[in-house]
Amino acid sequence: MTSKLDMIIIGSGPGGISAALLAKKESRSYLILEKGKKIMQGIIDTYPKGKKVYPTIPKGYEDPFPVPEIKPPEDKIPVEQYIEQVQTLASENHLNIRFNEEFKEISGACPDYLVKTDKGAYLTRNIILAFGSNIPNDLGIYGEAKTVRRNIENGEDYIGINVMVIGGGNAAADVVCSLSKIKREAKDDNTSVYWAHIKETFEINKDTARDLGEEILLGGHIKILQKAVPKIGEVDSEGIDRLYIHQTMSPSAGNDLYTYQGMSFPMKNVIACIGTHGPSAIFDALNLQQITCTGAICKIAREGERLLMLSGHFETGKKGIYAIGGAISPSYMEIGADGIIKEKKHSNLIYTAVWDAKKVIDKIIQD
Ligand SMILES: Cc1cc2nc3c(=O)[nH]c(=O)nc-3n(C[C@H](O)[C@H](O)[C@H](O)COP(=O)(O)OP(=O)(O)OC[C@H]3O[C@@H](n4cnc5c(N)ncnc54)[C@H](O)[C@@H]3O)c2cc1C
Repeated sequence: MTSKLDMIIIGSGPGGISAALLAKKESRSYLILEKGKKIMQGIIDTYPKGKKVYPTIPKGYEDPFPVPEIKPPEDKIPVEQYIEQVQTLASENHLNIRFNEEFKEISGACPDYLVKTDKGAYLTRNIILAFGSNIPNDLGIYGEAKTVRRNIENGEDYIGINVMVIGGGNAAADVVCSLSKIKREAKDDNTSVYWAHIKETFEINKDTARDLGEEILLGGHIKILQKAVPKIGEVDSEGIDRLYIHQTMSPSAGNDLYTYQGMSFPMKNVIACIGTHGPSAIFDALNLQQITCTGAICKIAREGERLLMLSGHFETGKKGIYAIGGAISPSYMEIGADGIIKEKKHSNLIYTAVWDAKKVIDKIIQD
């Protein structure tokens, strides 16, 4: 076992890397544990190829990125270039990272925590949970787990194939835009990207909307299906698993009749980008205090969802254990200095993860 560290950082996404850079600047000892092979493994695994990375600052905030080197450039570079930017930054700063090492559990108490991984154990005063939130939500359709994808692995696989993207947010819009571009640039591909959302309105930010508009104007083959509900999985006569979706064409006009328009896609040609849920089960396993949402206290989280309780400095109920970035998005419970607990919106953005890291390191230094 190594000697006691000032902090162990779990995850090498924008939050974890920022925490490490700031800790290094303050001459604090730290170690990043990353379960993947590379820095920014979470982003590598979830962004569509070539997706532009936006330096989005959430509404109501205006301070610049507290670690400017992590900021995605204003001229919106593709994700591959952004990953390279952060990897270069980490290697120039000789950041202390162990790859392929998965965080498992914590024992002990502040200031003598023992962090256990699948490879070893580390003594530390503080722990920063920066492991993101990439546990995909389910469509709740029988058989989906087998074949419905969550992201584009290789965009070229979809050339010449009608593909359906499900979801109404930025992640779905990014996938739609990428696939449409790949199809448009491929010769003689007349197939389409169908974009289905359960609601009538889509919730995408300005930057994403601009790219999408540009793609449509450039002749992208995008077909939008509003109020489209994934209904059932079925196996067709050729043994192919298919997903059936329907759109309600007219509501029941005072009687019990509905008119539907339906469509079915081979499940392997469906990409579901219907959001992720927070690592609530992991927080439970770590015995970190969470609060169950009720309609009266939660505006963002759904009824019954469990939100992590954090101080203004992202400290959990256990002293010296912090949670930041995607792991606590889109909302958590903040316990104010006055003891009042309320749901706090927390946009899942690079900017937010970097600012969280800054606040945590400031707190650790101050302690
Ligand atoms: C498709 C898509 C597009 C996006 N586009 C933008 C954008 O343009 N601009 C923007 O600002 N934001 C964007 N976001 C959001 C942004 O990527 C996240 O807010 C950000 O990555 C969160 O950083 P993080 O460090 O908290 O977590 P992550 O980036 O998720 O990093 C967590 C890391 O922890 C590792 N890890 C997980 N579990 C363990 C474990 N048990 N042990 C060790 N390591 C572990 C993971 O491998 C990963 O590398 C986008 C998100 C998605 C999904």
